[in-house]
Amino acid sequence: AAQRLSRKTVLITGASSGIGRATALEFVRTAPDVRLIVTARRVDALETLKGEIAEISGAAEVLVVRLDVSDAGDVKRFWGELPEGWRDLDILVNNAGLVKGVDHVGDISEEDIHVMYSTNVTGLINMTQAAVKIFKARNSGTVINVGSVAGREPYPGGSIYCSTKAAVRAFTDSLRKELVNTRIRVACIDPGQVETEFSIVRFRGDKDKADAVYAGVEPLTGRDIAEVVVFVAGRRENVVVADTLIFPSHQG
Ligand code: NDP
Repeated sequence: AAQRLSRKTVLITGASSGIGRATALEFVRTAPDVRLIVTARRVDALETLKGEIAEISGAAEVLVVRLDVSDAGDVKRFWGELPEGWRDLDILVNNAGLVKGVDHVGDISEEDIHVMYSTNVTGLINMTQAAVKIFKARNSGTVINVGSVAGREPYPGGSIYCSTKAAVRAFTDSLRKELVNTRIRVACIDPGQVETEFSIVRFRGDKDKADAVYAGVEPLTGRDIAEVVVFVAGRRENVVVADTLIFPSHQG
């Protein structure tokens, strides 16, 4: 994998925390001369990540870009303004995503519905469209989408989040079939419970509620998922690890 990922350009959305951040670090551990475009809304966290990467490998190149995937204008600007030398993307990791609240469907605000759909679904689609254009011109490239078990096993109070992740599954599967017989790979990784900032966002900053989610269980870490992302990306070009479900052992 180290050789296959050597000097590859990898774009990660939502790299400021959790799985995205761990994925950036894992790419560098695996391929020290990888080229990473790390994006999210919190640029300060991305700059900190860049510093940590420099400590792991002096050969890795890192480009930090503020990007709100839920804003179609921002996504367009992002692709239009990518500096020369960073446009020939090899791997897109669509990781940015969130859940807001655990609510009965009638109680969910229009804004929360919009935030979840525009980030988890439309944002992911807009990013993929732009990347696939680059991949098609070269007939190579990899899209890795981070879905969720929630897209396969919807739970009560999660109607919006679960349906966004079901959409990610369907979008991924459809695109993979559309691109069959090309050298463009499309994969979905569906994690179970991972301890990240995810639960803090879900409970709108209530750390006690977030901590309670992980009490008495041993959730996955961001790195557990990151290792799978890098594994999928690092296969031979002809190998598509299309669909992965990954749980902590207490879940399933
Ligand atoms: P975190 O909250 O730790 O990370 C989420 C990341 O998404 C952050 O870097 C955040 O960055 C970014 N993000 C959120 N909204 C936007 C936006 N509009 N534009 C760009 N970036 C955005 O959670 P996780 O690492 O756990 O989540 C990563 C993915 O994993 C998500 O898609 C989530 O649905 C999925 N997942 C998580 C599970 C879990 O148990 N943790 C289980 C299954 C799936 P910033 O705020 O700086 O923009």
